[in-house]
Formats: sequence, C-alpha cells, structure tokens
Amino acid sequence: MHYTIQQALQAAIPLLQQAGIESPRLEADILLTQVLGVQRSYLIAWSNRQLSTTQYDYFHQLISRRQQGEPIAYLTGHREFWSLDLLVSPAVLIPRPATESLVEQALKHLVTITTPMIADLGTGSGAIALALARECPAAQVFAIDREPIALAVAQANAHRLKIDNVFFICASWLQALLPHSMDMLVSNPPYIAENDVHLTQGDIRFEPITALTAGIDGLVDIRHLVQYGQQYLKPKGWLLLEHGYNQGQAVRELMQQNGFCGVTTIVDLEEQERVTLG
Ligand code: GLN
Repeated sequence: MHYTIQQALQAAIPLLQQAGIESPRLEADILLTQVLGVQRSYLIAWSNRQLSTTQYDYFHQLISRRQQGEPIAYLTGHREFWSLDLLVSPAVLIPRPATESLVEQALKHLVTITTPMIADLGTGSGAIALALARECPAAQVFAIDREPIALAVAQANAHRLKIDNVFFICASWLQALLPHSMDMLVSNPPYIAENDVHLTQGDIRFEPITALTAGIDGLVDIRHLVQYGQQYLKPKGWLLLEHGYNQGQAVRELMQQNGFCGVTTIVDLEEQERVTLG
C-alpha cells in the first residue's frame, strides 16, 4: 500500500506518543521533512501526495529509531544554536539552549577588547567557538578538542557557515596553549557525576559519555580548568565555565581559591545556576 504524507504522519504520531515523546506531531513532521528534503509547509500543502516505498521505509526507520530514544538532532544531523544551523553527529554533544547563556556572558565581556584571543576548550560541534567568532569577527577563536572525530564536525560547521576566524587544534584542555596568551577561556566541559541516574534515561544515552561525565562528583574537569586556566590567561582575562545547576557554589569557591576575582554565577533560561565566570 502507498501512504500519503498525511497518512504516514497519522500512523507515526501515536508511535512516538507511546514512546513518551513530548511533541510527537512536531517530531514526525521534522523526520518526514528530512526524508523528503522539503520545508514543513510542504507537508501541509501536499498532504495528499503519495510517498514512494523507499521514502516510506526510510521514514518508518527514522520513527522507530526515535521510538528507541535516539535524539532527533542525530537523526536529522542538525541542531540550531545561536541562530546557527550546526551539523551534529553522535561524536559530539548536542548543543543546548542553556549554553547560549555562556555565549551571551562571553560577549558582554568581549566588548571592551579590540582583537580578543579566545579558546573554547572541548569544543565538540564548535557551537560556542562559532557563535563567538560570528559575533566578533575581529576575534581569533581557538576551538580545541582532544577527539579528532569531534573536531572534524566543528571544522565542517565552520566551513559550511563560512566562519574563518576559528582555528582548530586537536589537544586535551589547555595543553596546546601558550602561557598568558588568551583574553578569554570558555568551556562547556563534562560535569555530570558518573553515577547520575539521568545518564540512563532519554536522549542523553546516545550522547558521547566523554562529553558528559567527570568523575564521582562531576567536577574533575572543572577543577582542572580552574586550577590551570589562569596560567594561560592574560592579566584581566576571563574564564567562563558551564556547570550543573547544583554546582554553582562549588565552582565559585574553586575559582576564588585559585585567585580569580569578580567571580559571578549566571542563571540560564530556566533560572538554574549554569555559568560561572571570573
Ligand atoms: N547540560 C547537559 C545535560 O545536563 C550536560 C552537558 C555537559 O555535561 N557539559 O544534559
């Protein structure tokens, strides 16, 4: 039997609903636009168009992968961040809206610097580095990741978005930087505790574990960045770190103990403590 666009969507929606997907209608639409290579408005305008067997089979395959919990961003290969259309793969964390708070804070502190040197540590898809580079064309942004496969995604994003003031380095954290060379260090490091139950639930199960967990308390990488970060900053340089909603106090204390001044925590769109800077 040949399904029309409308019939295919009507069959898929309850399947996603049963799998506990919050917006089944929207996600079914997104996956079908992916299969057909069209805009969402096409689905409405051409709802009686018949799908070919190949198209229907591909759609059905995507729906069942979504039922198993695979994130929609990995199924489509895209996620929007700071109005940039980013490519994503299972090699990188899917950029989150909360991380836009970090970009916003970084930009506030960059306005006074004419040609800022910025390093994004553990860049993943390149989300933070690319957003900063786009907003500050005079900046030189170093996007650093120890995973070559993640760096390839970030590089592809820079290429697609024609952002040419980002430089890619394959290295672990601060390793590749020269002492006192940066005006700003930014990072969304892994910060979830290894035994956190959330890691076994929902979309996060499909994301790279190395981008998520940091030891028993989730603070191992943050401690490293706070402890050694200052050596790579120019005087009056800034360190901005994303962290868990319940880690604000710990991160503030760490920064103060390590000689940072002006230590402040910012809340994200959900009013959770999310970014600390100093
Ligand atoms: N904010 C992400 C989450 O809780 C985790 C990102 C990270 O560890 N850096 O799903």
